[in-house]
Amino acid sequence: MKIICIGRNYTDHIKELANERPDDPVIFMKPDTAILLKKQPFFIPDFSSDIHHEVEVLVKINKIGKHIQEKFAHKYYDEIGLGIDFTARDLQQQLKEKGLPWEKAKGFDGAAVIGNFFKKSSFKSLEDLTFRLEKNGEIVQQASTALMLWKIDALIEYVSKYFTLKIGDVIFTGTPAGVGKVFPNDQLTGFLEEKQAFSIKVK
Ligand code: ZN
Repeated sequence: MKIICIGRNYTDHIKELANERPDDPVIFMKPDTAILLKKQPFFIPDFSSDIHHEVEVLVKINKIGKHIQEKFAHKYYDEIGLGIDFTARDLQQQLKEKGLPWEKAKGFDGAAVIGNFFKKSSFKSLEDLTFRLEKNGEIVQQASTALMLWKIDALIEYVSKYFTLKIGDVIFTGTPAGVGKVFPNDQLTGFLEEKQAFSIKVK
């Protein structure tokens, strides 16, 4: 399976990192070895001193497809989840300044938290799905899919122009504002509406 991530999909997060609003979705990948194993803590890697949490809505692909039109995109997923795109912000900044790819800052082992998935039919609306990340019981990121620049179905159309989507692929749909540094002993808990999708310890 592959993990396709969308960058700069929420205006408020683009502003907080002083990035430009893109004309097209920003896409990058994480290898499957980036997936944090279930019930395992996240270990801060020694090559970074500024690991950020980015909570993101996830879409699990359930059908193979290429050149999927937006109006048919809903047929390619049944389940929605929540995860974290852990980012070594210091390393990413160095790479961005040199115009180099971000992979080391985004694709390292453990950098993809994939929480529980829920049937999309269990939510009243995917157009206005609320989600939040709590750090040690305090809300640090909170948003709705209504604030996405590109909605889920538009992302599927765009991504599938370049990459064949296969069963089990996961799309990270971008993070809203509120990204921040994690520290040892932090507990990160994510909720989609009121359903808990993950709770992980930082070490
Ligand atoms: Zn992200």
